[in-house]
Amino acid sequence: MSKIDDTLKTLNLESERVRDLEVAITDIERVPEMINKYAAELVAVGPARSKASSHASAIFDDASFSRQGNDMSANTAVAEKYRNNFLKEIEEQVEMGDWVKMCMQCGVCSGSCPTNFQSAWEHPPQELFMMIRAGKREEVLTSSSMWNCTSCYNCIVRCPRKLPITHIMHGIAEYAHRIGMAPKMQPTRFFSGLFWKNCTHTGRTNELKLSMGLYFKDGLVQGIKNGLAMQAVALGLVKAKRLNVMELFGGHKCKDQKGIHAMLNKAYEIERTRKAAKMAG
Ligand code: SF4
Ligand code: SF4
Repeated sequence: MSKIDDTLKTLNLESERVRDLEVAITDIERVPEMINKYAAELVAVGPARSKASSHASAIFDDASFSRQGNDMSANTAVAEKYRNNFLKEIEEQVEMGDWVKMCMQCGVCSGSCPTNFQSAWEHPPQELFMMIRAGKREEVLTSSSMWNCTSCYNCIVRCPRKLPITHIMHGIAEYAHRIGMAPKMQPTRFFSGLFWKNCTHTGRTNELKLSMGLYFKDGLVQGIKNGLAMQAVALGLVKAKRLNVMELFGGHKCKDQKGIHAMLNKAYEIERTRKAAKMAG
């Protein structure tokens, strides 16, 4: 146990999170019962002290993006449908959400996360999974934690229960966005929407407009300040012919824009139908 204790200290985890249990080979059928009993005790121990961070991606069509913050009817409907059973809501509505119940709260994911100990990370994955089980719907869905995941996959590699943690984090973020609960100005969410609109408009990314959109995210004055702060970089890019100011008035386009839009509209339609069926189901 001393080596395990050292590892727990390194990961900033309490010793109650590991139990050394022995069972005779003739009593092998008792193992599931022992695991479940210990899992229940871990729930009582609560979240680990460690704090971590993440980022999330989601499919953003214009309709879902403009709905954010304006139309909370989707949220009201699902909140009513799953009243007092947030875990079930996550299992049925979130991609890979049915894995959450498999978490045994060991805290390895949180301790392994490279963005751990960043102040912006409110709830590391293990804590979020605990909160889901505890029914903390509002706190989870309005949290910015899932949006901070960098998709490094460290947690997935190390999870002893093989939970697809990264996918669950992104799934929760996408779901919070879909029902209008995600923090509106969360930088990753904002950038994801901006990038999606930018590249799907003409089929090619207009980097100048994308940068301008980010600079002016917090208003005109802050946008001008951001622009002035980056003017040396911008001039360097212009000189190196990596930035063309004329991109502001049009820019590169994909040859078959109509084809791209038709393809995207079909994808939106399939995705909306699938998600609407899930909501109604
Ligand atoms: S998700 Fe995996 S690594 Fe993280 S606390 Fe749960 S069981 Fe442990
Ligand atoms: S993939 Fe896992 S370990 Fe990596 S940043 Fe996201 S939550 Fe943290």
